[in-house]
Amino acid sequence: MDSVIVHYQEIALKGRNRPWFIDRLAGSLRDATADLDVTHVRPLMGRIEVGLGPGADWPTVRERLGRVFGIANFARSRNAGREVDEIADAILGHLREAGARAADRVTSFRVRASRADKTYPLTSPQIEREVGGRIKAGTGWRVDLESPDLAIGIEILPDRVFYTLGKEPGQGGLPTGTSGAVLCLLSGGIDSPVAAYRLMKRGCRVRFVHFHAYPILSRASLDKTREIADLLTRHQLRSRLYAVRFGEIQQTIVLSAPPPLRVVLYRRMMMRIAERLAGGCGAKALVTGESVGQVASQTIENLAVINDVVTLPVLRPLIGSDKEEITQEARRLGTYPISIVPDQDCCTLFVPRRPATRARPEDVERAERNLPVADLVDRAAAEIERQDFVFPPPAEASVAATPGGDAGAADARIRQV
Ligand code: ATP
Ligand code: MG
Repeated sequence: MDSVIVHYQEIALKGRNRPWFIDRLAGSLRDATADLDVTHVRPLMGRIEVGLGPGADWPTVRERLGRVFGIANFARSRNAGREVDEIADAILGHLREAGARAADRVTSFRVRASRADKTYPLTSPQIEREVGGRIKAGTGWRVDLESPDLAIGIEILPDRVFYTLGKEPGQGGLPTGTSGAVLCLLSGGIDSPVAAYRLMKRGCRVRFVHFHAYPILSRASLDKTREIADLLTRHQLRSRLYAVRFGEIQQTIVLSAPPPLRVVLYRRMMMRIAERLAGGCGAKALVTGESVGQVASQTIENLAVINDVVTLPVLRPLIGSDKEEITQEARRLGTYPISIVPDQDCCTLFVPRRPATRARPEDVERAERNLPVADLVDRAAAEIERQDFVFPPPAEASVAATPGGDAGAADARIRQV
């Protein structure tokens, strides 16, 4: 029977929580392959086995597992008999079956054996030599211990022997959900999707909140954010996006506050609303894509003034990253092409020509005395729209109409709640 052997790395270190981490990882693997022909997902002596049925398409399985957090690497695997001849025959038979495709590319290989069953009559180096010699004779490939085209693994367990072919890199990080939930302020820009991904990778379930000025401005930023949320859902499998109407709040700020303070005031309002929302959705921290000095609102002084209005921790995973580094990561993630589509971000609305780079808390507080802050937060919080995203997409795909438009409704992956 075909299966995939998944190796975890970091979670193996988590002491008494280990079974819980492994359970979460197994759950993620089940969810990520829910629509594929996977027969079982089972912890197996320091690894997890994912059983593949005849209908499982390897490239699809590989793509799915490659995105699951908490995996060091994984490889295709099959069972073999206990004798070295049987092991070599099984591997050679499998290679023949895989056919010319694989053989074209492979000219070198390596065998690594490990024995969880210490009563096995041969040592690991002996197994490697014996099986390796037979594979060399059967294929004509040369042995390359350093960087082989094909890495072959043999694992001897007490009641079972199996081999693995090739080794696919995992996504690393910690299994989704093991670090709790956080709420990421997701703009349509380049940075915040990368910030969200960083926290996802560390085991957080990341919820998203987007502030938009629709219908005062176009709904482009909202549509981009939905697309980004949908894309990031391929990693954490279930996401929720909250969309907050922010245009009226900005208009109120514009009418009453000194222009240089506007951006900081917008941000403080966003933080207050986000914190309220976090309380309602169990998020333990807020996340932003800010990085020191990138724009006027991101000086240390302004970040401090923005922080002042919330008590939840504000995580800024990109704080020390250059734009170029962030951009590269966004490209790798696939969010970059969505982020660069022109939009009318709500913060481009009424942006002053000279924003304050060092807003003073007393000035900001004075400006807010003219604003009905609590009332604005209450009103915005009362009107929030929620949208859920799931991956893999549900087969029945019944999608309700999206309040305020139907851009997301056409996508089967998106379900209104
Ligand atoms: P990004 O590329 O993430 O938009 P940026 O470099 O454009 O970042 P700002 O626009 O100052 O920087 O935004 C800083 C952070 O504030 C963003 O990374 C995001 O976390 C949050 N933010 C800004 N605008 C919005 C918005 N409209 N909705 C939700 N969050 C926002
Ligand atoms: Mg932005």
